[in-house]
Amino acid sequence: MSDLPLLGSHLPMSAPGYFAIACELAKTLGEDTFMFYTGAPQNSVRADIAKMRIEEGMKILDAVGISPSSLVIHAPYIVNPASRRKEENFQFAIAFLKQELARANAFGVKNIVVHPGSHLGDGEDYALDCLADAIDAILEGDQTDVAICLETMAGKGKEVGTSFDFYASLFPRLSRPERVGLCLDTCHLNDAGYDLTHFDEVLAELDFKIGLQKVKVVHLNDSKFERGSHKDRHENIGYGTIGFDVLSKIYRNPNLKGVPFVLETPWIDDVMPYQQEIEMLRSGVYVPSWRESL
Ligand code: FE
Ligand code: FE
Ligand code: ZN
Repeated sequence: MSDLPLLGSHLPMSAPGYFAIACELAKTLGEDTFMFYTGAPQNSVRADIAKMRIEEGMKILDAVGISPSSLVIHAPYIVNPASRRKEENFQFAIAFLKQELARANAFGVKNIVVHPGSHLGDGEDYALDCLADAIDAILEGDQTDVAICLETMAGKGKEVGTSFDFYASLFPRLSRPERVGLCLDTCHLNDAGYDLTHFDEVLAELDFKIGLQKVKVVHLNDSKFERGSHKDRHENIGYGTIGFDVLSKIYRNPNLKGVPFVLETPWIDDVMPYQQEIEMLRSGVYVPSWRESL
Protein backbone atom coordinates (compact mmCIF):
# COMPACT_ATOMS: atom_id res chain seq x y z
CA MET A 1 0.00 0.00 0.00
CA SER A 2 1.24 3.44 -0.87
CA ASP A 3 1.32 6.43 1.42
CA LEU A 4 -1.21 8.32 -0.72
CA PRO A 5 -4.86 8.83 0.28
CA LEU A 6 -7.55 6.41 -0.89
CA LEU A 7 -8.60 7.21 -4.44
CA GLY A 8 -11.67 6.12 -6.39
CA SER A 9 -14.59 7.49 -8.35
CA HIS A 10 -18.30 7.88 -8.51
CA LEU A 11 -19.65 4.54 -9.74
CA PRO A 12 -23.13 3.70 -10.98
CA MET A 13 -25.30 1.46 -8.85
CA SER A 14 -28.52 0.41 -10.52
CA ALA A 15 -30.79 -2.62 -10.93
CA PRO A 16 -30.26 -5.51 -11.15
CA GLY A 17 -26.59 -5.61 -10.10
CA TYR A 18 -26.75 -2.81 -7.55
CA PHE A 19 -23.95 -2.80 -4.98
CA ALA A 20 -22.36 -6.06 -6.18
CA ILE A 21 -21.75 -4.60 -9.64
CA ALA A 22 -20.39 -1.32 -8.26
CA CYS A 23 -17.92 -3.29 -6.12
CA GLU A 24 -16.93 -5.44 -9.09
CA LEU A 25 -16.34 -2.30 -11.12
CA ALA A 26 -14.20 -0.74 -8.38
CA LYS A 27 -12.10 -3.90 -8.38
CA THR A 28 -11.68 -3.87 -12.18
CA LEU A 29 -10.72 -0.19 -12.21
CA GLY A 30 -8.21 -0.61 -9.36
CA GLU A 31 -9.98 1.82 -7.04
CA ASP A 32 -9.26 2.00 -3.28
CA THR A 33 -12.70 3.40 -2.51
CA PHE A 34 -15.73 4.71 -4.41
CA MET A 35 -18.84 6.82 -4.13
CA PHE A 36 -22.36 5.80 -5.12
CA TYR A 37 -25.93 6.99 -4.99
CA THR A 38 -28.42 4.57 -3.43
CA GLY A 39 -30.64 5.15 -6.50
CA ALA A 40 -30.85 7.71 -9.32
CA PRO A 41 -29.01 10.96 -8.45
CA GLN A 42 -31.83 13.11 -9.79
CA ASN A 43 -34.74 11.49 -7.98
CA SER A 44 -35.62 10.13 -4.58
CA VAL A 45 -37.06 6.78 -5.64
CA ARG A 46 -35.13 4.14 -3.71
CA ALA A 47 -35.33 0.37 -4.00
CA ASP A 48 -35.62 -1.76 -0.89
CA ILE A 49 -32.18 -2.12 0.64
CA ALA A 50 -32.71 -5.91 0.77
CA LYS A 51 -32.52 -5.97 -3.04
CA MET A 52 -29.22 -4.11 -3.24
CA ARG A 53 -26.96 -7.20 -3.03
CA ILE A 54 -24.97 -5.80 -0.13
CA GLU A 55 -23.53 -9.10 1.13
CA GLU A 56 -22.28 -10.06 -2.33
CA GLY A 57 -20.61 -6.67 -2.66
CA MET A 58 -19.00 -6.99 0.77
CA LYS A 59 -17.32 -10.24 -0.26
CA ILE A 60 -15.80 -8.55 -3.29
CA LEU A 61 -14.61 -5.59 -1.19
CA ASP A 62 -13.14 -7.92 1.39
CA ALA A 63 -11.18 -9.80 -1.28
CA VAL A 64 -9.56 -6.60 -2.57
CA GLY A 65 -9.04 -5.04 0.86
CA ILE A 66 -11.52 -2.16 0.60
CA SER A 67 -13.24 -1.28 3.85
CA PRO A 68 -16.90 -0.28 3.44
CA SER A 69 -16.28 2.45 6.01
CA SER A 70 -14.12 4.27 3.44
CA LEU A 71 -16.93 4.33 0.86
CA VAL A 72 -19.03 7.43 0.32
CA ILE A 73 -22.75 7.75 -0.41
CA HIS A 74 -24.02 10.83 -2.24
CA ALA A 75 -27.55 11.94 -1.44
CA PRO A 76 -29.75 12.87 -4.44
CA TYR A 77 -29.39 16.50 -5.40
CA ILE A 78 -33.08 17.28 -5.67
CA VAL A 79 -33.72 17.48 -1.94
CA ASN A 80 -33.34 21.06 -0.72
CA PRO A 81 -32.80 21.41 3.04
CA ALA A 82 -31.94 25.14 2.66
CA SER A 83 -35.46 26.33 1.87
CA ARG A 84 -38.72 26.28 3.73
CA ARG A 85 -40.71 27.96 1.01
CA LYS A 86 -42.74 24.79 0.61
CA GLU A 87 -42.97 23.22 4.02
CA GLU A 88 -43.87 19.82 2.56
CA ASN A 89 -40.67 19.80 0.47
CA PHE A 90 -38.65 20.79 3.51
CA GLN A 91 -40.17 18.01 5.59
CA PHE A 92 -39.62 15.58 2.73
CA ALA A 93 -35.92 16.51 2.59
CA ILE A 94 -35.61 15.82 6.34
CA ALA A 95 -37.44 12.49 6.16
CA PHE A 96 -35.52 11.38 3.09
CA LEU A 97 -32.11 12.25 4.53
CA LYS A 98 -32.98 10.47 7.78
CA GLN A 99 -33.63 7.31 5.75
CA GLU A 100 -30.45 7.89 3.78
CA LEU A 101 -28.47 7.84 7.06
CA ALA A 102 -30.08 4.49 7.89
CA ARG A 103 -29.26 3.17 4.41
CA ALA A 104 -25.63 4.31 4.71
CA ASN A 105 -25.45 2.56 8.06
CA ALA A 106 -26.71 -0.68 6.50
CA PHE A 107 -23.82 -0.50 4.00
CA GLY A 108 -21.30 0.27 6.76
CA VAL A 109 -20.64 3.62 5.06
CA LYS A 110 -19.56 6.46 7.38
CA ASN A 111 -19.91 9.54 5.17
CA ILE A 112 -22.89 10.86 3.19
CA VAL A 113 -22.31 13.82 0.88
CA VAL A 114 -25.22 16.26 0.86
CA HIS A 115 -25.65 19.41 -1.23
CA PRO A 116 -26.71 22.23 1.09
CA GLY A 117 -29.31 23.36 -1.46
CA SER A 118 -30.66 26.60 -2.81
CA HIS A 119 -32.10 29.66 -1.08
CA LEU A 120 -34.60 30.08 -3.96
CA GLY A 121 -34.43 33.86 -3.64
CA ASP A 122 -34.92 34.10 0.12
CA GLY A 123 -31.27 34.94 0.80
CA GLU A 124 -28.35 33.17 2.43
CA ASP A 125 -29.21 34.10 6.02
CA TYR A 126 -32.63 32.51 5.88
CA ALA A 127 -31.16 29.50 4.06
CA LEU A 128 -28.69 29.11 6.92
CA ASP A 129 -31.57 28.99 9.44
CA CYS A 130 -33.44 26.43 7.34
CA LEU A 131 -30.37 24.27 6.84
CA ALA A 132 -29.48 24.31 10.55
CA ASP A 133 -33.06 23.32 11.45
CA ALA A 134 -33.08 20.58 8.81
CA ILE A 135 -29.80 19.06 10.00
CA ASP A 136 -30.91 19.17 13.64
CA ALA A 137 -34.14 17.40 12.67
CA ILE A 138 -32.32 14.79 10.58
CA LEU A 139 -29.93 13.97 13.42
CA GLU A 140 -32.48 14.08 16.21
CA GLY A 141 -32.63 10.63 17.75
CA ASP A 142 -30.29 9.19 15.12
CA GLN A 143 -28.23 6.38 16.61
CA THR A 144 -25.80 5.84 13.75
CA ASP A 145 -22.32 7.33 13.46
CA VAL A 146 -22.74 8.36 9.82
CA ALA A 147 -21.51 11.90 9.12
CA ILE A 148 -23.43 14.36 6.97
CA CYS A 149 -20.76 15.92 4.73
CA LEU A 150 -21.95 19.20 3.27
CA GLU A 151 -20.38 19.91 -0.09
CA THR A 152 -18.67 23.16 -1.06
CA MET A 153 -20.70 24.44 -4.02
CA ALA A 154 -19.87 26.38 -7.18
CA GLY A 155 -22.60 29.00 -6.74
CA LYS A 156 -24.69 28.04 -9.75
CA GLY A 157 -28.08 29.75 -9.60
CA LYS A 158 -29.07 30.36 -5.99
CA GLU A 159 -26.92 27.64 -4.48
CA VAL A 160 -25.66 28.19 -0.94
CA GLY A 161 -22.53 26.73 0.66
CA THR A 162 -20.14 28.44 -1.75
CA SER A 163 -17.79 29.82 0.91
CA PHE A 164 -16.06 28.71 4.09
CA ASP A 165 -17.76 31.67 5.79
CA PHE A 166 -21.16 30.12 5.14
CA TYR A 167 -20.13 26.89 6.84
CA ALA A 168 -18.31 28.75 9.62
CA SER A 169 -21.68 30.36 10.43
CA LEU A 170 -23.53 27.06 10.18
CA PHE A 171 -21.54 24.80 12.50
CA PRO A 172 -22.05 26.80 15.73
CA ARG A 173 -25.82 26.69 15.16
CA LEU A 174 -26.01 22.89 15.06
CA SER A 175 -27.08 20.77 18.02
CA ARG A 176 -24.81 17.92 16.95
CA PRO A 177 -21.95 19.54 15.02
CA GLU A 178 -19.76 16.49 15.65
CA ARG A 179 -21.97 14.57 13.20
CA VAL A 180 -21.48 17.08 10.39
CA GLY A 181 -18.44 17.52 8.14
CA LEU A 182 -17.45 18.93 4.78
CA CYS A 183 -16.84 17.56 1.30
CA LEU A 184 -14.43 19.72 -0.68
CA ASP A 185 -15.09 19.66 -4.43
CA THR A 186 -12.14 21.10 -6.36
CA CYS A 187 -14.24 22.07 -9.42
CA HIS A 188 -16.74 23.82 -7.16
CA LEU A 189 -14.02 25.59 -5.13
CA ASN A 190 -12.46 26.87 -8.35
CA ASP A 191 -15.79 27.95 -9.79
CA ALA A 192 -16.71 29.63 -6.49
CA GLY A 193 -13.53 31.73 -6.77
CA TYR A 194 -10.94 29.95 -4.60
CA ASP A 195 -7.41 29.98 -6.06
CA LEU A 196 -6.31 26.34 -6.03
CA THR A 197 -2.82 27.26 -7.24
CA HIS A 198 -2.38 28.46 -3.64
CA PHE A 199 -4.06 25.47 -2.07
CA ASP A 200 -2.13 25.68 1.21
CA GLU A 201 -3.61 29.14 1.74
CA VAL A 202 -7.10 27.83 0.93
CA LEU A 203 -6.65 25.07 3.53
CA ALA A 204 -5.23 27.54 6.04
CA GLU A 205 -8.34 29.69 5.66
CA LEU A 206 -10.55 26.63 6.06
CA ASP A 207 -8.61 25.54 9.13
CA PHE A 208 -8.89 28.99 10.70
CA LYS A 209 -12.61 29.41 10.00
CA ILE A 210 -13.89 25.85 10.43
CA GLY A 211 -11.13 23.38 11.30
CA LEU A 212 -9.39 20.97 8.96
CA GLN A 213 -10.73 17.98 10.88
CA LYS A 214 -14.15 18.74 9.37
CA VAL A 215 -12.99 17.67 5.90
CA LYS A 216 -14.23 14.10 5.43
CA VAL A 217 -14.27 13.70 1.64
CA VAL A 218 -12.63 15.37 -1.38
CA HIS A 219 -14.22 15.39 -4.85
CA LEU A 220 -11.27 15.68 -7.20
CA ASN A 221 -12.42 17.18 -10.52
CA ASP A 222 -11.01 19.52 -13.11
CA SER A 223 -13.27 22.39 -14.24
CA LYS A 224 -14.43 23.42 -17.72
CA PHE A 225 -14.67 27.07 -16.68
CA GLU A 226 -12.50 29.80 -15.20
CA ARG A 227 -12.08 30.48 -11.51
CA GLY A 228 -15.08 32.41 -10.19
CA SER A 229 -17.35 31.43 -13.10
CA HIS A 230 -20.03 29.82 -10.85
CA LYS A 231 -20.72 27.26 -13.58
CA ASP A 232 -20.15 23.79 -12.05
CA ARG A 233 -19.13 21.86 -15.15
CA HIS A 234 -16.70 19.09 -14.28
CA GLU A 235 -13.85 18.26 -16.66
CA ASN A 236 -11.45 15.31 -16.94
CA ILE A 237 -8.19 15.54 -14.99
CA GLY A 238 -5.74 17.67 -16.98
CA TYR A 239 -8.28 18.91 -19.53
CA GLY A 240 -9.66 21.81 -17.52
CA THR A 241 -8.68 25.17 -16.08
CA ILE A 242 -7.27 23.70 -12.84
CA GLY A 243 -4.89 21.29 -14.52
CA PHE A 244 -3.09 18.10 -13.59
CA ASP A 245 -0.23 19.61 -11.57
CA VAL A 246 -2.51 21.48 -9.19
CA LEU A 247 -4.86 18.48 -8.76
CA SER A 248 -1.96 16.09 -8.22
CA LYS A 249 -0.57 18.42 -5.54
CA ILE A 250 -3.96 18.58 -3.82
CA TYR A 251 -4.05 14.78 -3.83
CA ARG A 252 -0.60 14.80 -2.20
CA ASN A 253 -1.35 17.48 0.38
CA PRO A 254 -0.20 16.06 3.76
CA ASN A 255 -3.13 17.71 5.54
CA LEU A 256 -5.66 15.59 3.62
CA LYS A 257 -3.97 12.25 4.03
CA GLY A 258 -6.75 10.43 5.86
CA VAL A 259 -9.54 11.56 3.56
CA PRO A 260 -10.99 9.54 0.63
CA PHE A 261 -10.61 11.24 -2.77
CA VAL A 262 -13.38 10.64 -5.31
CA LEU A 263 -13.36 11.51 -9.02
CA GLU A 264 -16.60 12.82 -10.55
CA THR A 265 -15.20 13.51 -13.98
CA PRO A 266 -17.23 13.04 -17.17
CA TRP A 267 -17.34 9.81 -19.15
CA ILE A 268 -15.92 9.92 -22.68
CA ASP A 269 -18.92 8.92 -24.77
CA ASP A 270 -19.84 5.84 -22.76
CA VAL A 271 -16.36 4.98 -21.51
CA MET A 272 -15.30 5.62 -17.92
CA PRO A 273 -12.10 7.68 -17.64
CA TYR A 274 -11.32 6.69 -14.06
CA GLN A 275 -8.69 4.00 -14.52
CA GLN A 276 -6.45 6.34 -16.53
CA GLU A 277 -7.06 9.29 -14.20
CA ILE A 278 -6.31 7.19 -11.13
CA GLU A 279 -3.07 5.83 -12.60
CA MET A 280 -1.82 9.32 -13.46
CA LEU A 281 -2.76 10.74 -10.06
CA ARG A 282 -1.10 7.87 -8.22
CA SER A 283 2.10 8.07 -10.26
CA GLY A 284 2.11 11.88 -10.39
CA VAL A 285 2.96 11.60 -14.09
CA TYR A 286 0.61 13.13 -16.65
CA VAL A 287 0.10 11.43 -19.99
CA PRO A 288 -0.64 14.18 -22.54
CA SER A 289 -3.77 13.55 -24.68
CA TRP A 290 -4.61 10.47 -22.59
CA ARG A 291 -8.28 10.80 -23.49
CA GLU A 292 -7.57 9.99 -27.11
CA SER A 293 -6.47 6.47 -26.26
CA LEU A 294 -9.71 5.56 -24.52
FE1 FE B 1 -22.07 16.70 -5.24
FE1 FE C 1 -18.94 17.03 -6.11
ZN1 ZN D 1 -20.45 19.64 -9.43
